[in-house]
Order: sequence, then structure tokens, then C-alpha cells
Amino acid sequence: LADKVKQVQLLPAITPDGKEIELLLNAGLSSGFEHSKNSGAAGIGLYRTEIPFMSKSCFPSELEQTVLYRQVLEAFPQQPVTMRTLDVGGDKSLPYFPIHEENPFLGWRGIRITLDHPEIFLLQIRAMIRASVAYQNLEIMLPMISSVAEVDEAIRLINQAYFELSSELATDQNTVLARPRIGIMIEVPSVIFQLEELAKKVDFFSVGSNDLTQYLLAVDRNNSRVASIYSSYHPAVLKALQMIAQESKKYAVPLSLCGELASEPAGALLLLAMGYDKLSMNPHNISRIKWVIRHVEFKKAQSILAKVLTLSNAKQVHNYLNEQLELLE
Ligand code: PEP
Ligand code: MG
Repeated sequence: LADKVKQVQLLPAITPDGKEIELLLNAGLSSGFEHSKNSGAAGIGLYRTEIPFMSKSCFPSELEQTVLYRQVLEAFPQQPVTMRTLDVGGDKSLPYFPIHEENPFLGWRGIRITLDHPEIFLLQIRAMIRASVAYQNLEIMLPMISSVAEVDEAIRLINQAYFELSSELATDQNTVLARPRIGIMIEVPSVIFQLEELAKKVDFFSVGSNDLTQYLLAVDRNNSRVASIYSSYHPAVLKALQMIAQESKKYAVPLSLCGELASEPAGALLLLAMGYDKLSMNPHNISRIKWVIRHVEFKKAQSILAKVLTLSNAKQVHNYLNEQLELLE
């Protein structure tokens, strides 16, 4: 099977009956891109900027960030690279920016921190935009959005950075710069009920199923004591994912998913059936997910999804999907 899986690496992720889905990469380090470039991915769906921040001893300067982001953007010159703004707090901390809270996953995380510190946000956005001048393949993604006001404020700041920088660049280098596309992560449940309004403000949605599962089920994603009840195959999570897909289609917003669920054959099959446009995952999972997509009829995936949505717990869902996956060849 390993050989068969390798052979599909450079082929498109398309079902035998012609339904295509894009497979993208999750990344966080600028090293190792040589391997990623050959993974058969159509771009970067999630670049986690907090990862390089974690290995520094203080906040990286605008120049340091520009150099770093340029490496990432240049690795995929013809393809979109989605960079997520700093997503610290919760389980991810910076040694030089300690946060002490009773309940960090419900506390100061992601966009909440960067909107409280616009100087950190603006500097990062400027570095991203500066790094994107050559190929203009940057997309900006906002983590931990829970309200429309946060999106308005983040877009206001991005516009500010963009206008400042584009007039500097126009004068210095005679370069005309398009404003990058802006998207939000869907990972806080409140957002699911505001998609209509959010659709008017952003260019794409990307579901963070790791956090969305945690917040829908009220189960800490890293607590081993409750690990057995943390599952993205819980019927409530699946119904939420389905609803997000339907609403995104209704409001014509491109939709991807960049949590772990996308990298699991069973998860990818369901997301394909729900109509997700893109799945983003670690490089080593691309071929095996591609293999699954290329071996399941879209019609079949939809009938599997219909059956799954009638099941009442994650274990039943898992068992049923595994049976169905074994029938693929
Ligand atoms: C997620 O929450 O699903 C996600 C992709 O982001 P992270 O795992 O970095 O929180
Ligand atoms: Mg997340």
C-alpha cells in the first residue's frame, strides 16, 4: 500500500466521479520546506506564525519576521500561502511574554491578545505584507475570532498597515501591491451563528476543528483524563461542520479545514462529502488522504455521510467509517 500511496502524490485529489478538493499544508517552521514542496500540496493552508516566535528570546523585529515569512512565501511562489496571525495563549506560551490565568483556554488567546496589543499585530502584518511583495501570494488568517467586532477591528488594522506600506512601496520601488485576502478561523462556536454577517466581511473561512471540538464539547484538548470524550466524530461536532459547510456555500465563501480531522482518512472522507473546498494537513499525510479521495466515489462519500449523521455517538461513527474505509481499494 505504501508504494501505491506514493504514486498518487503528484496527482490531483479528485474522486473517480470527478469531485475535486484541494489539499494544502500545515506548517510552522521555515526549515524542511524542500520536503514539503514535493509533498503534492497545492499551497500552504495554515502557517502557524507562533512557532518561530516560540524559539526566540524576545519578540522578533519587523525585519526578522520579514525575512522569515519571505522564505515561506517564496517556497510556494505560484500558490496561496495562508499565514495565521500570532496565536499564543491557551497552551502556547512565549517565554518572554508570560501569561498566568486560571483558565487559559477561555482567557487571553489569539486575536484577543493581538487586538489588545495592536503594536504587535501591526508589526506582524507589515512584515507579512513586505515579505509578499515579490509573489503576492499571501493570505492572512485570524485565529480565535468569537465576534464580528473583533473582525472589524482586525481588518481596520490590516488596512492601516496595508495603506501605509503600499504608499511606501509605491514611492520607493514603484511597486503596486494588492491587499492580501483576509480570512478567519472558525474555532469558537459563537462564530457558527454569525456566518452570514461574517461572510460579508472576509474572503474565506477555515475551520480549526481542534479547538472547535474542544469548545463545543467543553473538553480540554490536552487533558488525558478526558481524552476519551474528546472526539471530532461526536455527532454534535459533525453537525456543526455540516452546518458550516452549508452556510459557507449559501454565502459563497470558500471554506477549508485545517485541524487534525483533515489528516485522518475518515475525517477527510466526511469533509469531502460535506463539500469542503480545501483540507490542510501536515506534509506526511497528503499522499494518504489523496489516495482515499482518489478511491471513493463522491456519491458514495455522500451516502456514507448521510448514514453517519444518523448515528448517536462517536464510537459508532468511528466503527462505521473504518468498515467503509476497508472496502476501498
Ligand atoms: C485548530 O484549532 O484546529 C487549529 C488548526 O489551530 P491550532 O491547532 O493551532 O489551535
Ligand atoms: Mg486553534
